[in-house]
Amino acid sequence: MNSPLNAGFIGLGAMGAYMARNIAQSGQLAAVWNRTGHVAQNLARELGVANATSPAELATQVDVVLTCVSADADLLAVIEALSPGLKPGMIVVDHSTVATDTARQAAKIVGARGAEFLDAPVSGGVEGAKNGKLAIMVGGAAANLEKVRPVLETMASHIMLMGEVGSGQATKAVNQILCAGINQAVTEALAFGAAQGLELDKVIEVVSAGAAGNWFLDERGPTLIRGTFTPGFKLALHHKDLNICLEMAQKLGMPLPVTRMTLEEYGKLMELGHGDEDISALYRLKRP
Ligand code: NAP
Repeated sequence: MNSPLNAGFIGLGAMGAYMARNIAQSGQLAAVWNRTGHVAQNLARELGVANATSPAELATQVDVVLTCVSADADLLAVIEALSPGLKPGMIVVDHSTVATDTARQAAKIVGARGAEFLDAPVSGGVEGAKNGKLAIMVGGAAANLEKVRPVLETMASHIMLMGEVGSGQATKAVNQILCAGINQAVTEALAFGAAQGLELDKVIEVVSAGAAGNWFLDERGPTLIRGTFTPGFKLALHHKDLNICLEMAQKLGMPLPVTRMTLEEYGKLMELGHGDEDISALYRLKRP
């Protein structure tokens, strides 16, 4: 494989577009593809890279294919679509959040073409994607990670190999359970503060400096108290992730009560039409 790598990016949504931009800045992005064509057309023009006509054509143009799409069925559809363009030795890196079983299934489809697969879900939100400061949790062979590391490093401040294919997604599920609990804690606590008539900007500032300080409070606290819930991380996507976590927990015989409660509350918000808002929209159900 050449160094620097020729990478192609599929799925130019809230996360993918920024991730592709960071790869492009390092000179390693050769092509992009997106289901909604004009999105890819605009980004390809902005970055001076090829706008592939299909996932398979993109795969023929690059050494490494990166994907970041919504959910399990979307990933498998994209993997099926790109696989005719794969050649032995190529590596497909998936940054979507999906089930461990889906990652293994994707690896099988890619493996049937003689190519390699890494599940590499990310954390750090749209801000992390924009600033190239994502945390990437990787499942797959260490040698494959080393080959694609120069590309991943353009997007991440932290890259950790967790074990075999699927273990990146297993780690991401841990992350999503934490995010549910933190969202519950922050929205409930700020609603409690609001009910007491406290100045919430001051609450956030002083509490952030102590033991209860956290990323979500800093980044989403100031906006959620103003009723602004622009993603960020879409509530419907976290709902999808928590369903994955509950399925995994069931197999492990674990109840995950906070995750279950969050899933139910997200379900209510989605019924009310708030699925495309940031997960901090949970505050809608908590505020006095
Ligand atoms: P998003 O803004 O909704 O973008 C989704 C992307 O996937 C779009 O480019 C969309 O194409 C594409 N897509 C969806 N279904 C497809 C299909 N069947 N075939 C081809 N392309 C398809 O979502 P996002 O926030 O970027 O999230 C993407 C992934 O990263 C998700 O798995 C999410 O859980 C994960 N993630 C998100 C965050 C976050 O803070 N947003 C953080 C960490 C991880 P169109 O343009 O045609 O719709």
